[in-house]
Amino acid sequence: MPSSFIPTTETSDFPIQNLPYGVFKTSSSTHIGVAIGEHILSLTELDKKGLLTESGKPIGCFSSATLNNFMEEGPAIWKQVRNRVTNLLDSENPQLRDDNNLRSNVFFNQDKVNMLLPVNIGDYTDFYASREHATNVGTMFRDPDNALLPNWMHLPVGYHGRSSSIVVDGTPIRRPMGQTKADDSDTPTFGPCRLLDFELEMGLFLGQGNKLGTRIPINEAKEKLFGMVILNDWSARDIQKWEYIPLGPFLAKNFASTISPWVVPMDALEPFLTEAPKQEKEVLEYLNHDRQTYDIKLEVTLNNHTIARSNFKYLYWTPEQFVAHHSVTGCNINPGDLMGSGTISGPTPDSYGSMLELCWKGTKPLTLPDGTERKFLQDGDVVNMHAFCQGDGFRIGFGNCSAEILPAC
Ligand code: MN
Repeated sequence: MPSSFIPTTETSDFPIQNLPYGVFKTSSSTHIGVAIGEHILSLTELDKKGLLTESGKPIGCFSSATLNNFMEEGPAIWKQVRNRVTNLLDSENPQLRDDNNLRSNVFFNQDKVNMLLPVNIGDYTDFYASREHATNVGTMFRDPDNALLPNWMHLPVGYHGRSSSIVVDGTPIRRPMGQTKADDSDTPTFGPCRLLDFELEMGLFLGQGNKLGTRIPINEAKEKLFGMVILNDWSARDIQKWEYIPLGPFLAKNFASTISPWVVPMDALEPFLTEAPKQEKEVLEYLNHDRQTYDIKLEVTLNNHTIARSNFKYLYWTPEQFVAHHSVTGCNINPGDLMGSGTISGPTPDSYGSMLELCWKGTKPLTLPDGTERKFLQDGDVVNMHAFCQGDGFRIGFGNCSAEILPAC
């Protein structure tokens, strides 16, 4: 097992086994970097000096302010860079370890920089892949006996989301205004959303995609995946309830979505592959594969108090099925596209991934340690999400995905 000369603890999000990619800003410059412990190693600086290749020739994709060019390079270059960075950080390798001048140029303190949105996200799609979540919502709003609609077991249901309002951890979220209609009224009214919610999700970033008019076979889908982030798909439930028929969510979701700043590479998640839930209905050939998923522990805190624990492995549909389904029409996927998993709810009420489900449509309020109750989110509330894979003596963590709710204006 490799170890780094940069110290990390057993509960650090960013040991040498992780090496997630992010984009950060100092007072004078913007860099692409890799998180290690409390530090960041600048790939922008290393590549300028030719230290990311054997030949000493810069790769050239680290001089921009997003990961898109790197994502476009594909799995061979991703692997080469990851191996090189692992090697440079290895406690046995003196090249960087013993070069104080170089170290002062390439290391930055996470505390002293600002993380930016790491990717120029062209398109964002959100799936609905948790059977428990879909069942809970169907039970609350339609019919407990037919909670899942007939298509649900045959395809990963999704919708095209809004990428312009995706923001990074720490960006405050303004409570949206909108049109809602009370059950006992015939006409809608305009005002602040009163049923503001989060959705605990993970986001998959795509690397090389496909050309328009071609499709990605499911056995080639995995190599299209670049990495993962935590995703909070903020949701205005009262706006959603009135607007969603017949075309699905629109303004209830387009005001903001938050992602964690570090994109964890699929290679770091590979040791945490696990069997996906049994596919209970046979699927069409283009969706059929040896179903594996990832064991990623998830947690939601509200004002620093844990209110839900779930796991990515509960999802019924797999990332490869998302990619194969999304592209089956010939729709082209581009480097930097984001695919959300949908709310990740587990089998027990403490594993539900939204306030809607945790408080069961407002009928079971949560009591916080300060004695106040919540059915949905209030102004001033801070929601944070954590995710990690538990290794033997280390964690592959994802950092924070937090935001404070600001009053409507
Ligand atoms: Mn969602």
